[in-house]
Amino acid sequence: MSDSTNSLETLAHAQSIAVPDAAGNDLSSADLSSRTHPEPSHPYRYPFVRDIGRILHAKAFRRLAGKTQVFTRRAAESDHSRSRLTHTLEVAQIARTTASALGLNASLAEALALVHDIGHPPFGHAGEKALDEALKKHGLGFDHNLHALRIVTSFEERYAAFRGLNLTLAVREGIIKHSHDYSAEDHPELSEYFLGQRPPLEAQLIDMTDEIAYLTADIEDGLGAGILDLAQVQDHVPFFGDLYQAAEREFPAAAPRLLANEALKQMLNSMVTDLMQEIAQQIRTQRIETLEDVRRAPQRLAMLSPEMEAKRSQAKSYLFANLYLSPSLEVEHTHAEQIVQTLFAAWTDDPELLPPDHQARIPKEGVQRAVADYIAGMTDAFIEQAWLRHLQNR
Ligand code: MG
Repeated sequence: MSDSTNSLETLAHAQSIAVPDAAGNDLSSADLSSRTHPEPSHPYRYPFVRDIGRILHAKAFRRLAGKTQVFTRRAAESDHSRSRLTHTLEVAQIARTTASALGLNASLAEALALVHDIGHPPFGHAGEKALDEALKKHGLGFDHNLHALRIVTSFEERYAAFRGLNLTLAVREGIIKHSHDYSAEDHPELSEYFLGQRPPLEAQLIDMTDEIAYLTADIEDGLGAGILDLAQVQDHVPFFGDLYQAAEREFPAAAPRLLANEALKQMLNSMVTDLMQEIAQQIRTQRIETLEDVRRAPQRLAMLSPEMEAKRSQAKSYLFANLYLSPSLEVEHTHAEQIVQTLFAAWTDDPELLPPDHQARIPKEGVQRAVADYIAGMTDAFIEQAWLRHLQNR
C-alpha cells in the first residue's frame, strides 16, 4: 500500500475534523447545524441534507440555468457549453466524492457546492465587474458571496414564518468564506461567521473543487466553441499535452476529440487526488486533530501540492490569455457591460420602472443597492429582454 493511500485512510478516521451533522458535545462551542429561526429536527433528514433540499428548491438555484458561466449562447454557438447550473452540479459531484473520501461531512460539502455560485449576476464575470463598477461610483460595491448570503437570508421567500431559507450556520459561513476571508473591522454585520478563523475543511474544499472543475471544463468548452485550438493547447499547456500524448500512445486510432477527453479526465483526476493527498499531508504535519485546529491553523489546509499548483496555475494563465480575454469573448463582455451599466443608470434615475417588490426595498437599501439586487438576480435572457424594452421605450 502506498504512502498516499495510507495518509488518506488516516484522515478518514479523523472524524473530529469534520463538521458534525448535529450539535455535538465535544467540538466547537457554536453549533454549526443551528438555524437563525429554530426548527424542530427532522425524523430522518440531517440538517445539511435539509439544506441541500432548500437550495435545490430555491428560485435562485433554478436561475443558474440561464446564467453564463464563461460562454454566452452567442459566443459558443453550441448547445454543449456549461451554464452556471451545470458547472455547479459538476462542482457538487467532485466536492461530495472528495469530502466523502476524506471522511469529511459530504452533505455539507455538497450543500456548499450547490449554493456557491447563486450570487452571480447575469453575463458571468463581465456582468459582475460592470455591476461592481456602477456601484463603486456611489461608494458601494458588488461581491457575489455577500450577495449569495442576502439571497439565502432574505430574498428567497418560501416560509410563512420568516424570510430566507433559514440555512444552517455552517452553510451560511461557507457561502461567504469559501473563497475569501472578510475582516471583522470591515464587516461587523458578519460577526457570527467566525471572522479571523479559517472555515471548516468542507468549505475550504469548495474553493479548490471549483477551480479544478472549471479549469478542465473551460478547456473542453473552449475547444468545443472553436476558440481554443487543440494543437495550441497541447503545445502551451504541458499538463494537458503530456496526458494527451499518453492517451495517443494508448489509443493510437482514437479521434482527437476523444484523446482530448481522455487528457481532461486525467487532469481532473490527478488534481483531485493531489488535493486530497495534500490535505491529508497538511493535517498530519500540522497535527490537526479537531475542527478547532482547522479553524486556528495559520493558513487554509485545502490546497494543491506546489508541483500541481504550478501546473494548474500555468494552465489557468493560458486560459486567461487565450480564452477569457480572447477577442471572441471580449465582444460579449463589452455587450454585457453596456447592458448592465445602461440599465443600472436608467433604473436608478427612474426607480418607478422597477417592479413593485423591488421598489419597496428602496427605503431600507437605497436605490442603488435595490437596482443592483434586481439586476444581479436576472438570467442572461431576462436582462436581454429588459434591454430590448429599454431601447424601444427611450
Ligand atoms: Mg463556481
